[in-house]
Amino acid sequence: MSRAMVEPDRAAGGAARKSVYFFGDGRADGNARMRDLLGGKGAGLAEMMSAGIPVPPGYTITTEACRRFFDAGGRLPAGIVREEEAMLARLERLLGRRLGDPENPLLLSVRSGAPISMPGMMDTILNLGLNDLTVEGLARKTRNARFAFDSYRRFIQMFSDVVLGIPRGILERELTSEKRRAKAAEDVDLNEEHLRGLVARMRRVVREEIGRDFPQDARAQLSEARDAVFRSWDTERAVHYRRLNGIADTLGTAVNVQAMVFGNLGSTSATGVGFTRDPSTGEPSFYGEYLMNAQGEDVVAGIRTPHAIESMERELPEAYAQLREITGRLERHYRDVQDFEFTVEEGRLFMLQTRRAARTGIAALRIAVDMVDEGLLSKREALERVEPDHLDQVLHPVLDPAARKRHVLLAKGLPASPGASAGAVVFTSEEAVRRGQKERVILVRAETSPDDIAGMDAAQGILTATGGMTSHAAVVARGMGKCCVAGCTALRIDEAKRILRIGNRTLREDAFLSLDGSTGEVLEGDVATSDSEVVRVLTGKLTPKQAPLYQRFERLMAWCDEVRRLRVRANADIPRDAKIARSLGAEGIGLCRTEHMFFAEDRIPHVVTMILNAKEARDARLQIRRIEEDLAQAPRSERPGLKAELTRARAEGRAAIRDFDGALKKLLPLQRADFRGLFLAMEGTPVTIRTLDPPLHEFLPKREQLLAEMAALGRSRKGDPRRPRLERTLARVDELHELNPMLGFRGCRLGLLHPEITRMQARAIFEAAAQVAKRGLPVHPEIMIPLIGDKEELRRQRAEVEAVAREVMARLKTAIPYTIGTMIEIPRAAVLADEVAEHADFFSFGTNDLTQMTFGFSRDDCGRFLPDYVESGILPHDPFVSLDIRGVGVLIQRAAFAGRRSKPGLKIGVCGEHGGDPASIAFFEQTGLDYVSCSPFRVPVARLAAARAALARA
Ligand code: ADP
Ligand code: MG
Ligand code: MG
Repeated sequence: MSRAMVEPDRAAGGAARKSVYFFGDGRADGNARMRDLLGGKGAGLAEMMSAGIPVPPGYTITTEACRRFFDAGGRLPAGIVREEEAMLARLERLLGRRLGDPENPLLLSVRSGAPISMPGMMDTILNLGLNDLTVEGLARKTRNARFAFDSYRRFIQMFSDVVLGIPRGILERELTSEKRRAKAAEDVDLNEEHLRGLVARMRRVVREEIGRDFPQDARAQLSEARDAVFRSWDTERAVHYRRLNGIADTLGTAVNVQAMVFGNLGSTSATGVGFTRDPSTGEPSFYGEYLMNAQGEDVVAGIRTPHAIESMERELPEAYAQLREITGRLERHYRDVQDFEFTVEEGRLFMLQTRRAARTGIAALRIAVDMVDEGLLSKREALERVEPDHLDQVLHPVLDPAARKRHVLLAKGLPASPGASAGAVVFTSEEAVRRGQKERVILVRAETSPDDIAGMDAAQGILTATGGMTSHAAVVARGMGKCCVAGCTALRIDEAKRILRIGNRTLREDAFLSLDGSTGEVLEGDVATSDSEVVRVLTGKLTPKQAPLYQRFERLMAWCDEVRRLRVRANADIPRDAKIARSLGAEGIGLCRTEHMFFAEDRIPHVVTMILNAKEARDARLQIRRIEEDLAQAPRSERPGLKAELTRARAEGRAAIRDFDGALKKLLPLQRADFRGLFLAMEGTPVTIRTLDPPLHEFLPKREQLLAEMAALGRSRKGDPRRPRLERTLARVDELHELNPMLGFRGCRLGLLHPEITRMQARAIFEAAAQVAKRGLPVHPEIMIPLIGDKEELRRQRAEVEAVAREVMARLKTAIPYTIGTMIEIPRAAVLADEVAEHADFFSFGTNDLTQMTFGFSRDDCGRFLPDYVESGILPHDPFVSLDIRGVGVLIQRAAFAGRRSKPGLKIGVCGEHGGDPASIAFFEQTGLDYVSCSPFRVPVARLAAARAALARA
């Protein structure tokens, strides 16, 4: 049992453990702070009772009793049973009615109530205490036999379902056939006689189902119902729900036993539910629904159409006025929007539940800011009321809620990048680029790869069949702020035939699909979407004045910045993304992946030339250098031979070296322009640029494609001049082929073998910085060497970069403040962080690769088993989405500590996907890192998460 569980008991002041808490007559043993012990519902009922709000009296059996129930093998210990009997007697005295009394029966509701609201737990039982005798007593007492028998049949239905385990449909069928016989359209049209007959038939069915009579003893009914509530904690669906939502199995549920009030007592009675403000917009307008002459879940069950709460003002004016007054008071008391349930019995209002209302992101933002303005909340408290993920909804377009109901849900994948989009299906990036200019398209692929970037950019949304939350498609789409549903396993893509099958539907190219990247849903057809107001302001389509949502967003963000310590940067590769990031509050770039610049149309040919010649150029250079060295030491007699050898080597290597260097020379100005754009967009904030990282084969055409091109040539002319280049490319593709490219020739390994590439990139960076500095603008590049496993790797790459920096600064006579650091993404580098720090000005944890390598899970392939790992509880969550604190987190902690011990003041950040995950951010705050970096559209989420993490520590 956890400590927190016992705490409230002590708070209540009792040394002896109390298991049953009474509420009635304006007083309660419990209060709102005792959620863990009394459950949310019990704590709320107690609080309302003490506040003088009309609530039917009753008692709550604690969650602690629930645990003792299970410890005792599914029986409530005798001591607790005695405590309960005493409380029941107290309730009976208070009301002057007794459970099971045939003349004046007390009727009860039995309600479950866990500390955390849990759909999937037991349903409520109403009207408990009715039997063949008490129903007549109730009829006499109320002079309303129809009401009494309506209550009885409801009780039989509920009790049979949740306690006796008789499938709901069986008794429901009896009700339906009774209505048919009586030609009654609705339940309320059944009269006393119908209901008497119905009760008798239901009782017969129950006997047939369970082989005994429906329990007639009211006290037995109560203890059976109570035990069923406790047992419902352990049903399969409840356990499953807890697993999915990370709720501890040890919490247990409370049981609330409460006197009934009746909303089905005739034309001045009603039952309803509501919210103190609109939970989808946050608008401060009373919002709710009710039904006259109804009970319990009738309102939400959809048997009858409920009325909007406004018309209650006419139908039940006094109760309505009181409801407004009470719920207003509850909202002020809890200082949060309430979701409430009530019943009106013959004109008298009773509150049955109140709790914090669930809300959309837009509503959360509005409510928090409005409540600060109303003086209900402090700014700090407002930050605690908005979940970081709520902001996501504020930034992305959404599917219109009304429109989506008219469309078929085809499948569900992973909610890889939030937002909404609709468009015509296309199967290739070329098609997306071609058509994306004029129309809306959805790019549908098995999985995307770096050469799909242009297509992804042109599409409205991306849908993939395989790949997880950190697959290429997911990461890139999030970076672009573009809606993406990934890992949608129901898709069968036939790219050749241009057909997409989902279940039994076949969609051709051009068919319309709509995606909800926040839920992973894929809908058929063109569902209307609306753009985020915040984004419309940031892109200049609205002025801030016209955009109240934007104004609230900006205010909340400003409050975040007042309290957070962690800096927030963005991962951005191109000026456009950098500008968006900056406008969303990024304080720098934490990761610029230079390779993304290589894929643009005007560069890729040079990149390919560079790669095709890299190895030969290197071999030739090594060879030449060796001969030169030999020559320097050779005795005179050997020199002529060596000289001839040197001439030959130079001649042989000339073409490769020329082409290789030539390609780099072509790339230099292009990269320089890219970097200048980034520096300008980031306005002097630090810009971390990573040197080339991916395996080279990613830049080359696919093998199959080359073979196809060769085949096409073969059939036409023999001596086609394109053939040699194709053959060379193919040979190079084969040469570069690796079984494990992610563990292969990539990262700093590229720059170590081909230092010319690192030098070209460094030159582009420093020349761009110098251009900016010459204009009198601040600039602050940080060069980051990827995939270090040993300090020597970093030392050598650092020396290359520094040499270029010195040369450029001297030549251009400009001083540029810069730093050189490394990514910590290989576990060995983390373990040896103190050594690595000797050569680093900063560390940036590349948590994607670090997670991949620490677990030994391939990011791109783990979709086959990782979901199952999480589902079956081997891992608590996907470690690529939220940091594995126990493993990877500890590695980070130790590396940060060791790095700073060896170099005090070492700047440390995070640039993996985890930099935008609130739970991971809380950990980074605790670890004392300096900044996190995430995709541009996550920046506000990270600012809020960092603020909340700082508040949680204070
Ligand atoms: P849930 O946890 O599903 O909300 P509740 O325990 O709140 O279940 O009960 C559902 C509904 O049953 C309530 O909204 C209310 O209409 C009805 N109900 C519960 N207790 C009582 C009661 N004491 N008197 C009248 N109706 C009740
Ligand atoms: Mg309820
Ligand atoms: Mg990496």
